[in-house]
Order: sequence, then C-alpha cells, then structure tokens
Amino acid sequence: MSEKKEICPVCGRVIDYYDKKIVRSRAGTRVYVYAVHVSRDPLSGKRVREKCYLGPEDSYVYVSKTHLRDGLMFYGLVKRDRVIDYLRNILHSIRGMDLSETELREIRLLLREALRDVEERLREASEKTQAPLD
Ligand SMILES: [Zn+2]
Repeated sequence: MSEKKEICPVCGRVIDYYDKKIVRSRAGTRVYVYAVHVSRDPLSGKRVREKCYLGPEDSYVYVSKTHLRDGLMFYGLVKRDRVIDYLRNILHSIRGMDLSETELREIRLLLREALRDVEERLREASEKTQAPLD
C-alpha cells in the first residue's frame, strides 16, 4: 500500500490499515479484505478499531474507485464460482447503508422472491435425487 492514506469506500473515513481474513473451506481458500479505522474513545481514551468489509482479495484488486464508493464489488465477468461472493458483497453493503423505508421494502421484496426461487430449485433438485428435504 502507498504512504498516502486511502479513503474507505464503505464509510468514507481514512483507512489506517488493511486486515485480511482467511477462510478455508471445502471449496478452497478465500481471502477477505477489511479496512480498519483506528480512533480513540473520547470517554475511556482507549483505542477503538472498526472494520469495514471490502470484499474478496482477488476481486478487490481490480475494482475501480468509482465502484468502490458504493461499497459494492463488481466483477468484469460474473463467473459461476463468483456469484456467491457477489451476493455476499451486496448483502454486506446493504447492511452498512442508510436506506429509506421504500428502498428497504424493495429489497425485502427482491429477497423474498429470490428465496422462493432458491427453495423451489432445491425442492426440484431433491425430487430428482429423492433425497429428503433438510
Ligand atoms: Zn470504513
């Protein structure tokens, strides 16, 4: 990283340093990047560390600053194996956003539709294999 302090795309504060979280699963190893903000609690004087989730490391490198401002990670190509990361990023962004009631209702509708679709597909898949529903 350069000497110049960078601005956090999620909250707009200066990034003091980056943190990485390594997650190992059956699907492989993924590295998630966080922006860390260090401040001092005015009452206790203690150092406070706050983290903002920036996204998976491999995609983070290629993301433009403009897109980062929304806290969303965009991929040049949405590959099959990237879809889950993509969704995870969007959900993280939504959590950190200041949204209106109308926007929240719209998000709820989309999530319900998506969930219904996923459940239907899982049901179809389990009917094919005759595996019990979980
Ligand atoms: Zn931040």
